[in-house]
Amino acid sequence: SSSALKIVAFNSRKVVDIENHADSAKTMIDFHSIDEELLEKMVYDALVWSSLHGLLAGDRTVQRSGKVPGVGMVHAPFALLPVAFPEVQWKLACEVAPIFNELVDRVSVDWEFLQDSLSSTKRVDDFTSRLLEIHSKTLEINKKQEIHLGLHRSDYMLDEQTKLLLQIELNTIASSFPGLSCLVSKLHRSLLKNYGELLGLDLKRVPENSAVSKFAEALALAWTEYNNPSAVVMVVVQPDERNMYDQHWLLATLKEKYDIATIRKTLAEIDKDGELLPDGTLLMSGQAIAIIYFRAGYAPTDYPSEVEWRARLLLEQSSAIKCPSISYHLAGTKKIQQELAKPNVLERFLENKEEIAKLRKCFAGLWSLDNSEIVTTAIEKPEHFVMKPQREGGGNNIYGHDVKEKLLRLQKEGTEDSAAYILMQRIFPSVSPAFLVRDGICHKEHAISELGVYSAYLRSKDKVIINDQCGYLMRTKVSSSDEGGVAAGFAVLDSIYLT
Ligand code: ADP
Ligand code: MG
Ligand code: MG
Repeated sequence: SSSALKIVAFNSRKVVDIENHADSAKTMIDFHSIDEELLEKMVYDALVWSSLHGLLAGDRTVQRSGKVPGVGMVHAPFALLPVAFPEVQWKLACEVAPIFNELVDRVSVDWEFLQDSLSSTKRVDDFTSRLLEIHSKTLEINKKQEIHLGLHRSDYMLDEQTKLLLQIELNTIASSFPGLSCLVSKLHRSLLKNYGELLGLDLKRVPENSAVSKFAEALALAWTEYNNPSAVVMVVVQPDERNMYDQHWLLATLKEKYDIATIRKTLAEIDKDGELLPDGTLLMSGQAIAIIYFRAGYAPTDYPSEVEWRARLLLEQSSAIKCPSISYHLAGTKKIQQELAKPNVLERFLENKEEIAKLRKCFAGLWSLDNSEIVTTAIEKPEHFVMKPQREGGGNNIYGHDVKEKLLRLQKEGTEDSAAYILMQRIFPSVSPAFLVRDGICHKEHAISELGVYSAYLRSKDKVIINDQCGYLMRTKVSSSDEGGVAAGFAVLDSIYLT
């Protein structure tokens, strides 16, 4: 066996904890039956498969790995085996996807709702304030916008106690991993083809993942709708992007299947080379742009200077299809999620009672900090809450004792600053053992998982062209870690095994 391959086993005391959990969490695999030799073989095969099939990311230890493709590549972190997930809950997550799509679309055209709901946040959060400013400035232009494209990912955890599928958040901008998530499902199927019999697992229980082809299809149909055969898709990227292969999978699929070309530009480059024609056509160094697909622009760090803000405004003023538009972006903020969870708010946007009930069932407890009763409870029992600012990309939330400290400080200072946050019920998914592979090293860990369901929505005037779920992303992380991002280094990519 390979010397490069190291297996890090977890300590045996923890195994007992897991066994105590076993009655509630249907443990799929008898992890004790997997001996060291088999494990090493599977990890080795998985690493080879990942390298040969492009389940890759830039290696943080190689300087140019975020700029030059093909330089400093490392396998994306993955779970060796898929995680058990109840088929009923999986179907439910797929079923609500088009309803959430419609909700986002309806919220996005309700300018007043967006501005009002975010008005107190705006006063204390500069980033949200800048987005709202662009929203106000482009209101009239955007009202004339005919084509609306959303590529979302709604994330859930399965609450162990109530068995409810509860939404963590709905991402409307830069939903990542449509490319790599498909590959992880394929990796797992391939491993089960070889080892499934030995493990007592059937590869057909890992659902096929169509995220990359469905997202490419949505981009292609939107491009067709734009109706300028010489226009291309522009991806807005960060200057340094180690997750570039995930993006390239989508762009390569778009090229191969639909012969649509893409260019990649940073916000700074867009400011330099972008130009608007009087009719709203966006040109980049003379090249017409049909779709602006954002894989950057969701975090304050994406706007280090006024240059980047000027670029975002320019894009928003153009007649190109924005994926997402500033209003879709705002509709996906945590503050809006919290406002939508208030009684009778869903009714403002949706008519069908059954659909409303289905969405509401996925809502965890969500509160603004105006609610003094809930603030008091959260100070008493901070471990039952998560405090969230209006940020994306992982690593921004406040947990446990820090929630209490932060709330007490905000109370003492008595400022408006509390409007920057929302409070959310902490969800506790069941813990099960998992093999997490990162940097060629396999760690046996106690892990929890978060399911993301991709969805696409395409509307041209009153005609809804696409409204569909588009495959999935499972992310698994050590149960003791609060945050969840893969790129942020907390989680690994995973897939599901339907039970
Ligand atoms: P971001 O937009 O930064 O991804 P999230 O709301 O998804 O923000 O939070 C980041 C991570 O924090 C999630 O992936 C999840 O692991 C964890 N998390 C968020 N909300 C909750 C919650 N209510 N209960 C438990 N964990 C949560
Ligand atoms: Mg997010
Ligand atoms: Mg998230």
